[in-house]
Amino acid sequence: MNRCLVTGAAGFIGSHLCEALCARGHEVIGLDAFIPYYPRPVKERNLTALLGQARFAFHEADLRTAELAPLIAGCDTIFHLAAMPGLMKSWTDFELYESCNIYGTQRLLDAARQSPIKQFIHISTSSVYGQEATQGEEMPLQPFSPYGITKLAGENLCRAYGANFALPFTILRYFSVYGPRQRPDMGYFKLINDLIQGSTFTLFGDGAQTRSNTYVADAVAATVLAMEQCAVSLGQTFNVGGGEIVSLNEVIALLEEITGQRARLDRQPARPGDQRHTAANIAKARRLLGYDPHTSLAEGLQAQVMWQQAQG
Ligand code: NAD
Repeated sequence: MNRCLVTGAAGFIGSHLCEALCARGHEVIGLDAFIPYYPRPVKERNLTALLGQARFAFHEADLRTAELAPLIAGCDTIFHLAAMPGLMKSWTDFELYESCNIYGTQRLLDAARQSPIKQFIHISTSSVYGQEATQGEEMPLQPFSPYGITKLAGENLCRAYGANFALPFTILRYFSVYGPRQRPDMGYFKLINDLIQGSTFTLFGDGAQTRSNTYVADAVAATVLAMEQCAVSLGQTFNVGGGEIVSLNEVIALLEEITGQRARLDRQPARPGDQRHTAANIAKARRLLGYDPHTSLAEGLQAQVMWQQAQG
């Protein structure tokens, strides 16, 4: 059993990862600063199933300022998910993205390299590829938004610490994650909310943009596999996507079917930084990690709709 530090533990994906690790018998230290990108009570709710578990301890701490060595002491694996996510705000609040995604990552890496950890698993994004993310990990990296630029800098910091200090790192590039607890700023959350409430959904672009959606449990499964397959994953970068690639128009039709409601759309031009097509090539993760995403989009969206309906 490993002792794991999970940064961003109160977030959408981090909270699911902590639950999966605890369920597998690992000891988990969760860290989060409750950055007010979306309301703190939402993040506190994400921790509900974890608080009180004997294998889980939570620390409210900011990677930019906290003393990190005591939190890392005795850890085998660090999962680094804490970040300012979402690209729109990165145009207007660059300092926050820069400080959390670059400076916070550098501080964590620097503390990690002074500790005998087995693995640092850095969570990155398809946004490092740019407007199109449709091939394997060797695709040129041309981020199209300030968010993507800060996330690529985080990856490059891992590589610099790996090359200079033999820090044992692995990079996972998630593609559009969805499911229960999805961030309220994300498209599917907003669309489902608008369908439930009968309000108008703002559709940016023509709806023909495609996404390689990843159900949150599949993203978490890949992340746990990266630790369990440490011998092959060290020093490697993996795309983590779901199996299906669909357009936003197709997702709207599917959600109309699931909710039994017709979407009201306010069509607006695509926003600066929006990706056009993402289609995760996950051959490497399948081959080396045994990653096999199995949640269909219909099943995954159904689960998210049920969760959002239960939130009231
Ligand atoms: P989230 O906002 O729900 O979770 C991130 C958490 O990190 C938040 O709770 C926030 O408070 C915390 N955090 C941010 N800066 C911090 C700091 N300086 N110190 C301590 N905690 C800090 O976001 P998410 O959607 O769960 O994303 C998790 C990770 O996955 C991020 O690294 C993101 O870039 C990456 N990612 C997400 C998606 C997606 O579709 N959600 C896609 C690709 C990559």
